[in-house]
Amino acid sequence: MPKIYFIDVTNRDGVQTAKLGLSKLEKTLINIYLNEMGIFQSEFGFPTTRHETLYLQANLELAEMGVLQPIHLGGWIRAIVSDVETAFKLVPGIRHLNLSISTSNQMIDGKFLGKKTRSDIIKDMVEAVDAARACGAETIGVNAEDASRTILDFLVEFGLAAKEHGADRIRYCDTLGYDNPFTIYEAVRTLAETIGLAIEIHCHGDLGMAVANSIAGAKGAIDGGQDAYINTTINGIGERAGNTDLVATILAVTKSKGFGDKYPLGSSIKLTKASKIAEFASYAFGVPIPMNQPGVGANAFAHASGIHADGVLKDPENYELYSFKELGRGKPKFVETGREIIAGQYSGISGFRHVMGKMEVSFADREEAKEILELVRYANVESQRPLVEDELLFIAKYPQITRKLLTLKPLE
Ligand SMILES: [Zn+2]
Repeated sequence: MPKIYFIDVTNRDGVQTAKLGLSKLEKTLINIYLNEMGIFQSEFGFPTTRHETLYLQANLELAEMGVLQPIHLGGWIRAIVSDVETAFKLVPGIRHLNLSISTSNQMIDGKFLGKKTRSDIIKDMVEAVDAARACGAETIGVNAEDASRTILDFLVEFGLAAKEHGADRIRYCDTLGYDNPFTIYEAVRTLAETIGLAIEIHCHGDLGMAVANSIAGAKGAIDGGQDAYINTTINGIGERAGNTDLVATILAVTKSKGFGDKYPLGSSIKLTKASKIAEFASYAFGVPIPMNQPGVGANAFAHASGIHADGVLKDPENYELYSFKELGRGKPKFVETGREIIAGQYSGISGFRHVMGKMEVSFADREEAKEILELVRYANVESQRPLVEDELLFIAKYPQITRKLLTLKPLE
């Protein structure tokens, strides 16, 4: 029986969002949280982008150390041989890749401006797949950008060519959020049945249907006999109106009427990490969680009207579909209301030792404390906002990895 997996693309599609971004340390923490949550894969960045190189290498080291296990760390590149070569030159340890190319007539005419035909698209893609495999890629996903505006027959031809060259998955990209649950179901089911490869479902929210389209697409893949890999971002952060929200989609797949019984998850997800990951992404991006956000919004479990309050007090199931505890909510939060010492880019050793001491971190000697403080200062220079406890703990625990994350070497 085929199953549903999650590939979170916050660290790739999410950070492409206009006016937003993440530091390399923040991206690393997101990979750690996704791993703790049981997410199958994090699309962790851009292997051909120079300023990502050390971050990507450092995260692959964390994987080797067992810190980022069992999550897959996947890179995103264009489906052209030169990108594959650059990726493996800059990040030799990369093992999971998605290769992306536009497939719609709109893009072929409107973006490539007559320089590429449909057969060029297939040729570029299969050559890139061959090159990636030759360089040592273990899993290769092939992305059909703008798939929802692509002629279905061409998508089938594209997918069959990818399969023939050994691709593992096809990513169906509803790049503009144009699909609805009915159209994406039909398209993905046809692709699953005719191509015979696992399908990734990548949706955007331009028409407010990203989550609905994602579960309809997943149903299409499974009904067509293939595994479904839903692409998500934390809090739905993404270009324009955003991507498919991670937590809302987990809830939709597991809690909506009868869905989870027929369309099960491929691995168990720790939903109790939902609140933490949503809050961290909100803080790191500097984008508040909407109060009515499913599961993690401030009002997701708030009741005011008499009938609802009375009902929920008698039995929560009267007015709640799931419990706040399932999302890791309900623990008291420590908020400092008195004197506060913060570790930042201009901190001194005594304030820093005080901050770390509160988290029960002590140092062998003053030298070690000074070294960690120096890294904390640089991390704060990059983020320009107070570091959270998990960031400080990470820096103290993995100073060598942190040094790499914080090193940016402009073009040589
Ligand atoms: Zn996208």
